[in-house]
Amino acid sequence: MQFEEIERLDREYLAETYARFPVALVGGSNATLLGADGTQYIDFGAGIATNVFGVGDEGWKRAVIDQLNKIQHVSNYYYAEPQVRLARLLCEKTGAKRVFFSNSGGEANECALKAARKYSFEKYGEGRSRIVSLKGSFHGRTLFTLTATGQEEFHRYFGPFVPGVSYAEATLSSVKAACGRDACAVIIEPVQGEGGVRALDAAFVQALAAFCKERDILLVCDEVQSGNGRTGTLYAYEQYGISPDIVTTAKGLAGGLPIGACLFFEKTEHTLKAGDHGSTFGGNPVSCAAGCYVMERLDRDFLLEVKGKAAYLRAKLGGMEGVEEVTGLGMMIGLSTRFPPKQVAAECLRRGLLVLTAHDKVRLLPPLTVSKTEMDEGLTILSEVLKK
Ligand SMILES: *Cc1c(COP(=O)(O)O)cnc(C)c1O
Repeated sequence: MQFEEIERLDREYLAETYARFPVALVGGSNATLLGADGTQYIDFGAGIATNVFGVGDEGWKRAVIDQLNKIQHVSNYYYAEPQVRLARLLCEKTGAKRVFFSNSGGEANECALKAARKYSFEKYGEGRSRIVSLKGSFHGRTLFTLTATGQEEFHRYFGPFVPGVSYAEATLSSVKAACGRDACAVIIEPVQGEGGVRALDAAFVQALAAFCKERDILLVCDEVQSGNGRTGTLYAYEQYGISPDIVTTAKGLAGGLPIGACLFFEKTEHTLKAGDHGSTFGGNPVSCAAGCYVMERLDRDFLLEVKGKAAYLRAKLGGMEGVEEVTGLGMMIGLSTRFPPKQVAAECLRRGLLVLTAHDKVRLLPPLTVSKTEMDEGLTILSEVLKK
């Protein structure tokens, strides 16, 4: 199909939920993508941090195809090897005790919040059920995770919301006040993504972790976007020197196939029991086989390379005309620029570079395998766009 036809059919048949860029992506190689009209694009978005090894990675494709040649889906009434392999990898690499698999980030967080309430119910009885989240956060689109999303603009139309959720500024006194006497969990993104690519202050996060521990309030780290090597460590919380009780992740975990994971550490290891929670597709063997390939490849050496690339990009961006501030962590990069982010993204696209926006920022989330040549080509386009 030609782009014009795809665009027309999308307008006619799809729910009108997305404001899309005027391009249909049909293929590519690593961080160089191909549009339906034959145009090439440098990809600094990675399908919102999902295509961690870009497009067409041979090892990743092999892992997926090998599993497809065996069986494409196994109901959770039965056992499946890719699930146990990926769960073991996640536990061995993080110190988590158990994993629940879902299909998306929102679902991973939904699971975390439900588990937090059950943990508290069993230990303290009814009523200690409050969830505290941060202003500017994003945790998903299901009603519970939407409620926990601390941005008013997402809340229009959809009330009434889930009771027992409060919002705090990213300061200890504000979180303490929001927790009151009935909080069971605080959920944070160590690096806020959709809210504007903001890495939380380390001293605040450490003080928060100590407060939560003292009060037996569960600390949940939403690493749906910041996880899976994105920031230069497997998970961003590692760089904050904290031990969360629950970690959720999704986006990059299977390198571009749908998956979500909720990691339970000591306190919550035994919280969810048979019948408490579930998912038909959760832990799909193809997604989990892809996840195993991703987790095995994200070793020390690979993560060191990510750190190197992040340092290179940040140095170049920091010195770029028209860039006022570079935020985020590792390869999760936010830019305050002299022009509005939407305008920058549209102009980059016209010149062959895909970038994202997040609130007041231009957001860059390149594939972790992006090459030096691809980085340089992308940076050149960006610098032309940001010139006066
Ligand atoms: C994208 C995102 C989600 C939601 O993930 P979905 O897969 O779209 O449900 C939740 N939390 C964070 C931090 C995210 O970036």
